[in-house]
Amino acid sequence: MIGKIHSFESFGTVDGPGIRFVIFMQGCKFRCLYCHNPDTFDLGAASFMLSPEQVFGKMEKFKVFYKKGGVTISGGEPLLQPTFIKEFFKLCKAERIHTAIDTGGGCLTDEVKAALTYTDMVLLDVKCIDPDIHKSLTGQPLQPTLDFAEYLSEQGISVWIRYVLVPGITDRDDLIEKHADYVSSLKNVEKVEILPFHKLALSKYEKLGIEYALKDTEPPTAERIENAKNIYKNRGIKVN
Ligand code: SF4
Repeated sequence: MIGKIHSFESFGTVDGPGIRFVIFMQGCKFRCLYCHNPDTFDLGAASFMLSPEQVFGKMEKFKVFYKKGGVTISGGEPLLQPTFIKEFFKLCKAERIHTAIDTGGGCLTDEVKAALTYTDMVLLDVKCIDPDIHKSLTGQPLQPTLDFAEYLSEQGISVWIRYVLVPGITDRDDLIEKHADYVSSLKNVEKVEILPFHKLALSKYEKLGIEYALKDTEPPTAERIENAKNIYKNRGIKVN
């Protein structure tokens, strides 16, 4: 089993609890208009082709930190390579290292379910609760993500829900309220993370020759971020 990997981060602090080893997998079927990793889209363009054991070996030097924090497999869309995740997480769990997947949750195959048996936490992007806007924002249907969220809820796997706040698209009170109502219906959500839209990836798009559809969109104001946070807080949901 070989993983197609874009890159690594040795001291990740935003993709799950504590200090984490973060693996960015190559490949994604979504095409989120705000994506800041367009260089991960093409599954065939991996920078590293490594086995789970080889990746685990890369953690050796700083394992003392990861035993207190953990590992997170991000992307791209990591669920495109579920068998790699399962085999890698098996090695982590044998050493009692906390495991997390950062995903858009667009697929729930038997292989993905098998990988989830070794997964302590999922960071799940529910990118928009309106099916039509979700489709135009990501290029993919919403329902598979909701099916995935409900499976996590049934399985009792801890979840952090992520919501990218994009002015003119997802930063609408009615959409955020509906999203918050949906999150309230799930059993195992520890918190919601509001991620304000930014344009830091603009140069990546220019380099790849891909049109950046949101180049004229500005980040949300502090007031709008606070407004979104309050919508979740008013429902008793913890917000970061
Ligand atoms: S799911 Fe993530 S990696 Fe894929 S396009 Fe969306 S933001 Fe980018």
